[in-house]
Order: sequence, then C-alpha cells, then structure tokens
Amino acid sequence: MKSALFFGEKDIRVEDRPTPVPGSGEVLIAIKSVGVCGSDLHNYRGNRAATQDIPWEQGHELAGVVEALGPGVDELAVGDRVGIEAEHLVGCGHCRECLRGDYHICPERGVINGARHGSHGFSSHDVTLASNCFPLPDHVSFDDAAILDCYACGVHAVNRTPVPVDGTSVIVGAGAIALTLGQVAKAYGAGRIIMVGTRPEPLQTAVDAGAADEYIVNADEDPVLGVLDRTDGQGAEVVFETVGGESQLIAQCCAMARRGGTVSVVGLFTQPQTLDSQALGMAKELVLTWSNSYSSWQGISEYQTALGLLASGRLNAGPIITHRFPQLQIADAFAAADDKWTSGAIRVVVNH
Ligand SMILES: [Zn+2]
Ligand SMILES: [Zn+2]
Repeated sequence: MKSALFFGEKDIRVEDRPTPVPGSGEVLIAIKSVGVCGSDLHNYRGNRAATQDIPWEQGHELAGVVEALGPGVDELAVGDRVGIEAEHLVGCGHCRECLRGDYHICPERGVINGARHGSHGFSSHDVTLASNCFPLPDHVSFDDAAILDCYACGVHAVNRTPVPVDGTSVIVGAGAIALTLGQVAKAYGAGRIIMVGTRPEPLQTAVDAGAADEYIVNADEDPVLGVLDRTDGQGAEVVFETVGGESQLIAQCCAMARRGGTVSVVGLFTQPQTLDSQALGMAKELVLTWSNSYSSWQGISEYQTALGLLASGRLNAGPIITHRFPQLQIADAFAAADDKWTSGAIRVVVNH
C-alpha cells in the first residue's frame, strides 16, 4: 500500500508499506477520498504534541471501498462503498458517557484495549472497525461522503442548539465547518442565517450553496453592529462560532446574541478566552455551550443522520469541495488548504 507518512510540519512522504490485515470486527478499506481538515493543518503548522510517534498517519474525513473482512464481520461485504466515521471518536464502551451514547466525550476516547486508534485516510488503505462503516447509496460520491465528518459535526451542533425557524441564526466563520453547519441548519428548518467571515468568496458560495441567506464581511463593517443592524438592534437567537484558533471570538459571539439567546462554540480555541460576564452573560442571560465532534443523539448515529440528509439531496457538498489532488500531490493539497487566501479553497480532498 501507499502510506502517507507525516514526519512533522510540511514533511509528508508517500512510501510503500505492508498492507495491514484486519483483526476481529475490523475491515480493510481501499480509501477513495479524504478531506484535509483544520485539525490536520494544526499538525502541518507544527502544533503537534512532541510525544507523538514519528512518522504518523492521519486523515479522518474519509470514504472508500471494503477490500477485506476480518473475522466475525458479517454486516459488510467486499466491494461495499462506505463512508467511515472517524476512528479517533471511538469510546471505551463502558463509562457513563459511552453508556448514554456520548462516546465522543469518553475520557478514553480513541483508545481500544489500551491501543490508540485513529483513521489514516491519506494512506491508500486503512483498517477500521466495521461498526464505523456506513454503506453509501450508489448516487453518493466518495468525495461528498468524505465530508460527512463535517456534516455530522453540524448535526451535533444543531441537535445541541436547535435553530429558530422564525428567527435569526448567525454562523461566525466561512470555512467547511461553517458551510456544512449552515446547510444542516437549513435542513433542520432554520429561518434566516447570517454568515460572518473575512473573505467574500466563500461567503458568496455559502449563499449560493444554501448554507446562508446573507453575509457580513469583517473588513466592510463591524460584525457585531452588522448583526444588530439586521435584527432591529436585538441580536440573533443563536450564534455558532466555528473559527477558534488564536481568536477571541466567543466574546464577539456573545455580543451578537440577543437577550436569552444561545452561543454555541464549535471552533477549537488555542487561547483562553476573555469576556465580560456581567454585560454579555448575566445581563442577557445567555446560554453558552460547546459542541465537540459528534456521536449519537437520542440513540441515533449523527453520522448516519448526516448521511441520510446527504443521500436525500438536502445537503449540497459540491460547492464546498473546491480542490482535488491525487495522493502523490498531497503536499500541494495541504498547501492549498493551508493558504486559503491564495488558493480560494474551502474543502480540499485527496483522492486515491
Ligand atoms: Zn475534521
Ligand atoms: Zn467511554
């Protein structure tokens, strides 16, 4: 197999490695498509924990074809086209969080019998749990299925924070997570969605792709005043934050929310956040909540929910996937995803 090996920062090499053999309850997948996620770029930019083995493999937004079955797998067949739920989300199966279905917040998340698990979609093949594989209808492409991981994050965010049908939701950010969340929110009946971002092009794509009704470009107007102007000075019922990083956007999101509203933090922040608890929180009695990845909601897989919405035509992945590269050009794929100002990328996928 052709493994994509990550040696740290921009050093990514494609090398021949032995193809792994699936164990009990596992399958071998020939990967067809894998998305370059913001968390993959975190590593690319040199922010990976020094304790990790070098080289490592990664790629958790993936879809492919079942190529071999391990012992005890009878729910899948060789040749099945599948979307794959990211394997770093597996839970231990017996803690309080796992037992109630919230395995994405299991304290042992990503560890099975002491061994760390993750998906390796940038390599040509990956062994994964059969239970993480979701058969794809023929009309769902591998590229679209690869970003089901993003859509499932959106499903989880909207399950935790219902969107008003007759009010305003704001999505801060205009990346793949923002656009997939916007489409999911619309599928869940969201009324008006205002998207806030820095680059006009993906914001316009969001409107064209049914992820937002209108947008605010940060450089053109103050985003808080912009939201207040568009909501009779009241603010939005719901504000989703999808940017994270080194920004201080939680306070800005709170300022955009109306009295009694909700702020949902979807972005991954690398810096502590400062906000005026009295003015923004207490006075408006905001609900401030976080949404981390996805798992199940009321007993139903959120990945399966996302797949159902995609297969029924309620989600439009096409405009979100802006760039495609073969595995041998993985360096170009990461460079395009890393510098979206230059490339204009929203979601970049690598194909095998
Ligand atoms: Zn991701
Ligand atoms: Zn657990």
